[in-house]
Amino acid sequence: MTTTPDDVRPAPRTEPLGVTVPSTVPTHWYNLAADLPEPCPPALHPGTREPLTPDDLAPLFPMALIAQEVSTERWVEIPQTVRELYALWRPSPLVRAVRLERALGTPARIYYKYEGVSPVGSHKPNTAVAQAYYNAVEGITKLTTETGAGQWGASLSMACALLGLRCEVWQVRASYDSKPYRRMQMETYGGVCHSSPSELTAAGRAILASDPETTGSLGMAISEAVEAAATDPAAHYALGSVLNHVLLHQSVIGQEALAQLDEIGEGADVVFGCAGGGSNLGGLAFPFLGRNLREGTTTRVVACEPAACPSMTQGEYRYDFGDVAGLTPLLKMHTLGKDFVPPPIHAGGLRYHGMAPMVSHAYELGLMSAIAVEQGDAFAAGIEFARAEGIIPAPESTHAVAGAIAHARAATEPETIVIGLSGNGILDLPAYHQYL
Ligand SMILES: *Cc1c(COP(=O)(O)O)cnc(C)c1O
Repeated sequence: MTTTPDDVRPAPRTEPLGVTVPSTVPTHWYNLAADLPEPCPPALHPGTREPLTPDDLAPLFPMALIAQEVSTERWVEIPQTVRELYALWRPSPLVRAVRLERALGTPARIYYKYEGVSPVGSHKPNTAVAQAYYNAVEGITKLTTETGAGQWGASLSMACALLGLRCEVWQVRASYDSKPYRRMQMETYGGVCHSSPSELTAAGRAILASDPETTGSLGMAISEAVEAAATDPAAHYALGSVLNHVLLHQSVIGQEALAQLDEIGEGADVVFGCAGGGSNLGGLAFPFLGRNLREGTTTRVVACEPAACPSMTQGEYRYDFGDVAGLTPLLKMHTLGKDFVPPPIHAGGLRYHGMAPMVSHAYELGLMSAIAVEQGDAFAAGIEFARAEGIIPAPESTHAVAGAIAHARAATEPETIVIGLSGNGILDLPAYHQYL
């Protein structure tokens, strides 16, 4: 495994470089907590079952992110260094899918917000650079994390490279074996990637002892990454989805989309986003929901999850752990249970047993709806999209495309549909190949 030797990795660098950032890159993140009719239930300490205190989280996260996790401020200023990094790929385009509309013969106008323009090809760098930044500012020199399909591991490895941090990633075994390009991407950025469960942590060894053939799960990989961070004072842990601060960072997607629609005099009737842990969906949809709550607009939001891992449409709404070993705080969320091992579907990024507490809460309040999409229908939609629009969507994103296509086909009146196209599928071509 090739890594960057520590002595050639530059010291963390967090100062702005003075580059000009387009005014269309948001200056603040939007926090839905400020506009919710009822507050989101708090995360609980796994031992005491009392609401978490900042001190409980301090071994894993920098104080700035802990503050964001519990914040109810509507707007949180984006540090200039992070805006400069965003400017490498933001604002992302909002594109009208006229060729897809024609192919479907729909009266609806379909737009897609395309996050595949980021360096790793998905929305995940939006939070990766912010998390790496706050950790670097607080003197942390290494981040650990888990990754499913590898998108998050690659995003955090890139962010760590840009900010001068080391990065260690536990990748779910099913993806580690089937998606070598993501590991190569992580290693190119200087990250170190292990197959999870691994022999490197107590949590991994315990899982392997009871089930040596396991295909792994995000819950297992999280246990390993959390353990590795908790036992190293120079390291913190970073989570790529689910938590409030992650959804906060992703709000740049929806804020830009709102502004881009306003500019052309459009209002969204319905927004479709794929839902794994809920971050791209929340990032796109929450600014629309916030406008609904504050200004009385009526944009509908549809979460599109895989039928093989249906936490919203089939799960229970209750407190559960984020990981298998029960090391994480208890989160009130729609969950299939922390021990749920989803089948190894191609949309690795959607294989998580739980849903973001904030998305779960919004769903429970009736602010959004959810559908489950079969893998075959998702790929068929991805191929239809690729042949009409040119972009090959990530397998995760095809779930949102499938939801939107079914909706557009049934439409009898003009309406405006927005698809969250969370990433491209260029490194997932073997999955398309198998489907074809
Ligand atoms: C990781 C990933 C997802 C799922 O994660 P969310 O937190 O639900 O957004 C969706 N799409 C792509 C392209 C991903 O990489």
